[in-house]
Amino acid sequence: MDAAALPSGSCPMRFLMAEHVRIFDTTLRDGEQAPGFSLRVSEKLRLARQLDALGVDIIEAGFPIASPADAEAVHRIAQEVRRPTIACLARAHRADLEKAAEAIKPAEKGRIHTFIATSDLHLQAKLRMSREQCLEAAVEAVRFARHHTFDVQFSAEDATRSDMEFLCRVVEAVIKAGANTINLPDTVGYATPDETRDFFTNIRSRVPNADKVVFSTHCHDDLGLAVANSIAAVQGGATQVECTVNGIGERAGNASLEEIVMAFKVRQERLPYTTSVNTLELYPSSEMLTRLTGQGVQVNKAIVGRNAFAHEAGIHQDGMMKDRRTYEIMRAEDVGAPWNPLVLGKHSGRHAVQRRCKDLGFDVEGGELVEVYRALMVIADERKLISDNDVVAVISAVRTGSVRHDHVDPFDTPSGVAATHHHPTGYGHGV
Ligand code: MN
Repeated sequence: MDAAALPSGSCPMRFLMAEHVRIFDTTLRDGEQAPGFSLRVSEKLRLARQLDALGVDIIEAGFPIASPADAEAVHRIAQEVRRPTIACLARAHRADLEKAAEAIKPAEKGRIHTFIATSDLHLQAKLRMSREQCLEAAVEAVRFARHHTFDVQFSAEDATRSDMEFLCRVVEAVIKAGANTINLPDTVGYATPDETRDFFTNIRSRVPNADKVVFSTHCHDDLGLAVANSIAAVQGGATQVECTVNGIGERAGNASLEEIVMAFKVRQERLPYTTSVNTLELYPSSEMLTRLTGQGVQVNKAIVGRNAFAHEAGIHQDGMMKDRRTYEIMRAEDVGAPWNPLVLGKHSGRHAVQRRCKDLGFDVEGGELVEVYRALMVIADERKLISDNDVVAVISAVRTGSVRHDHVDPFDTPSGVAATHHHPTGYGHGV
């Protein structure tokens, strides 16, 4: 029976069977290797504990050959964080693989993640290797890693710009050599969503034994498409997504973990996938990362930005006070973020100002409200945002009759404009 033939109100089959997608967090590896994001061993350990609380399936803890500190961080995380799989990166070189194996040795569940570039551009310009040499090195690396651990992931760097025929040969060979997860990165953030979906569908249908392994996506945000491409990869059959908290990572960053997880959660009917992430820990994780690296997220960043759940425009605030669903598709509480949605600024209306006064313990009405509102708007014109301290100070000034009128409100003129500016719901953009 096809889904369209189901009686209205019943769920199509794919909705009932939401597929589990593994979250492979690479905040501590790809994220940490971006300029300005390096962390000390102790800081990495704290973050790894938070990622455990967040519920990610796999933590990529570092690149042990890169530095002794990186090797130590992986080792300590492997010792102390026991629930998730602890992975670490290694090029297809014996020395890298030996370091990686040593670093994850104490792990309850350890994974060696080995990689080699498969695009002709990388092979010729960077590795100066033939395709045959690349294939041989990939197989040898996977075999060697399998001697040390059962769980081996292989990545074909620059997969999305590789020759399809050759890439399929490499994937087939590494599966045969014992890789259990095949990651196909869009290393340079070049792919588009429709292309990514076809790419995964194609490879999975062409490679023998593709159904025996987990396919994984790793997207970069050079064109702002990392999250869209990751979701498209999942629709093409990938069941592991590599991503980072706050979307940090090389250049424009990796796919943002919080955006992928919430897209699945909020749009279940279109994206029937689940993850093990506890969404209440999304904001605390973002905040910890910001604190430890000293690198803030853009204020309008989805899910975790300061403005993600804030409303200043009067028309929006009016809607929000009547029913939050008018302007919110998810709640700040669902991602563990503080909810203080009614930001007071020059686009706010009298209702929002009255509500804030009340929240701060002041009942302000009638003429007093008009006066408080007018004084706050003068501040807003100068300072963009009004703080609670401003509100308290203005109320007390109005009540003691000491409110200052030394700034002239351009709307407060006899021209009649003042009447529109003091509309109870305020203005700002409605659409
Ligand atoms: Mn990367």
